[in-house]
Amino acid sequence: MVSDDTAPQYPRSALITIDVQRDFLDGQPFEIRGTSAAVPAMGRLVRFFRLKARPIVHMVRLYRADGSNVEPCRRHMVEQGAQLVLLGSVGSQLAAPLLTTPETTLDAEFYGGKEVGPVSRLAIGRDNERGALVLHCSRTWNVLGIARHAGIKEAKRRAERIYPGLSAKWLKTGVSKRQAKAYLDKALKGVECSFCGKRPDQIDQMVSTGNARICNVCVRDIAAMMSIE
Ligand SMILES: [Zn+2]
Repeated sequence: MVSDDTAPQYPRSALITIDVQRDFLDGQPFEIRGTSAAVPAMGRLVRFFRLKARPIVHMVRLYRADGSNVEPCRRHMVEQGAQLVLLGSVGSQLAAPLLTTPETTLDAEFYGGKEVGPVSRLAIGRDNERGALVLHCSRTWNVLGIARHAGIKEAKRRAERIYPGLSAKWLKTGVSKRQAKAYLDKALKGVECSFCGKRPDQIDQMVSTGNARICNVCVRDIAAMMSIE
């Protein structure tokens, strides 16, 4: 049950998924019953967090074929040839509803039995008037992680700490505010707040029913108006 104390506070939340990999789905070698039924709801939550540029952490299990990093209770199965979330296998990939595009795969830098390593590409962008985002990307610019900072300067300072020497290498894209706005208006057309017309990236929360959507600011304003009347 959700009370005021436990209700999600999206502006301050991060989403963590654990082992939502294809081998755990119904009918797969590592089937955990009920996973397939729950995955569409997880996908909706992931899309919402992505839209709001909130952090999403996918924790995955990746077994080596020789069984050397498998928990003792399952090691014999893998040693005997069971194909369970093997490094680099299709079954080790995230379940489809969690992906940004159907082609998205775990980045090679994120496995191989090593710690999460540095990413191939980084981008910094302004997040409306609310600060700056650092996008951690793969070689093909798939976004693997997003960090929010107070401003561009702070974002560069933090990136320099992780990647020493990076400060001299940033390139300007030459995209103007007007071009960015035109792109967002087009990309998010049809999902604006039905009352004030704001895009989802301009507000904190949006509730939708059928074809109508309302943002958290309009909900508050309307509730205030109704309590006055
Ligand atoms: Zn609104």
